[in-house]
Amino acid sequence: MSSIAVIGGGPMGLAVAYELCLQGHTPVLLEADDRLGGMAASFNFEGLQLERYYHFHCLNDHAFFEVLEELGLSDQLSWRQTTMGFFFNNRLYPWGSVSGVLSFRHLPLLTRFRYLLHAARCLTIRNWRELDSITATTWLRKWLGERGYQLLWHKLFAFKFFQFSDQISAAWIWSRVRRLGQSRKKLKETLGFLQGGSQQLVDALETSIRHNGGEIRCNSPVQAIRPSPQGGAMLQTPNGVQHFDQVISTVPLPLVAPMLEAGGSDPELVSEYSSQPSVACACVVLQTDRAITGNFWTNVNDDRFAIPGVIEMSNLRPLSPHVSYVPFYIPADHPDYQRNNQAFIDDAWNCLKAINPDLQDEHRLASHCSRYRFAQPVCRINFQSTLPPLEPYPGVITADTTVYYPEDRGISESIDYGRSLARRVLAHAAAAMP
Ligand SMILES: Cc1cc2nc3c(=O)[nH]c(=O)nc-3n(C[C@H](O)[C@H](O)[C@H](O)COP(=O)(O)OP(=O)(O)OC[C@H]3O[C@@H](n4cnc5c(N)ncnc54)[C@H](O)[C@@H]3O)c2cc1C
Repeated sequence: MSSIAVIGGGPMGLAVAYELCLQGHTPVLLEADDRLGGMAASFNFEGLQLERYYHFHCLNDHAFFEVLEELGLSDQLSWRQTTMGFFFNNRLYPWGSVSGVLSFRHLPLLTRFRYLLHAARCLTIRNWRELDSITATTWLRKWLGERGYQLLWHKLFAFKFFQFSDQISAAWIWSRVRRLGQSRKKLKETLGFLQGGSQQLVDALETSIRHNGGEIRCNSPVQAIRPSPQGGAMLQTPNGVQHFDQVISTVPLPLVAPMLEAGGSDPELVSEYSSQPSVACACVVLQTDRAITGNFWTNVNDDRFAIPGVIEMSNLRPLSPHVSYVPFYIPADHPDYQRNNQAFIDDAWNCLKAINPDLQDEHRLASHCSRYRFAQPVCRINFQSTLPPLEPYPGVITADTTVYYPEDRGISESIDYGRSLARRVLAHAAAAMP
């Protein structure tokens, strides 16, 4: 195959290009942003090189471990026992452990047992297909009862999915609960981080791609995909138009719609991409001169804040000053998403002060808010049947994080899928050779 373009320089696009290079090809990777990494990209936060969005790794992130090994980065991966909290009724409770759940007296003892049973059941379910046609909220209500559901889950859904809350598939929530449940050693939650953050992986992938002859062009948004009758497509960027025999797009599916439309695709096909619902994220990150809690993750159930949880990165990865993330997931067309960054920062700070009443304004050292328009695909029931075709034209593939449903978006999953996709494309091309 003579020319291959990869659209998108997040973990999946980098993995596709990395694997193609390992197999002796020289792809061109086109990234819209001024940097690589996608959702896992980093920025300079008052001297700290930090992800725009919090990232941790789990004990079952096998594809991630494999690529680290190949890139000589395995010794940069560290693990730590972490704890979880639950902020409810203006009080912080321990959560995420059997003793924490059993001692939570705001729910009947039976509900607490049912909660633990449900977590255990998530580890034994093998066939997720039976959960695919049930909504997550129905499934959780069945396990926990109405009161348990309302107290433990309702706000998490309401503040992540808004009008889509009652449409999310049970298979999707199952895979999330299972992922964390499996990341335990001797029953203790154990999470991982790279010493240099995700940037370390992004840098190593970039170096390997370039070293093996691949080309990376940042600031190169693809504006149009015009399929060619002989296969592949003409890609238009602000720098010009170029034909590729094979195009592999890894950008969020709704972003493929304008590219196809500009390339003259059928409106029906375009709408299969544009109609994919997704939730945006405005993610506040703060530096403080002290910890907020001892937890890595604190779930929040408080009417004053539209915040599902707080992530204290420094309680996982040693970062000083103390770094906390406060994500706001909101559909991008919701009026709240139009608020300016300072409004999100103020809400986040007030929430941290509510969780830790000793916190004073002078303890805050710096703050920042990053936004990602398509941060969380909305995985509804029978999700796969709602996805557009993986290969809308011969030689044009459009994948994003939804392709590995029911798994939630993740670095390891995107790398795994990206690498196997690259191998499949090459095998297919080889089989088609005369
Ligand atoms: C708040 C948050 C927290 C997260 N936490 C974790 C975590 O703890 N652990 C974990 O493993 N994962 C986590 N993730 C998910 C992880 O970051 C993603 O799964 C992963 O980055 C997906 O990679 P991707 O390459 O598939 O997609 P993306 O990262 O979305 O990459 C797509 C790329 O395409 C580019 N692009 C868009 N339009 C164009 C265009 N027209 N032309 C060219 N390029 C274009 C984008 O700029 C981007 O770089 C988190 C994500 C978020 C938002």
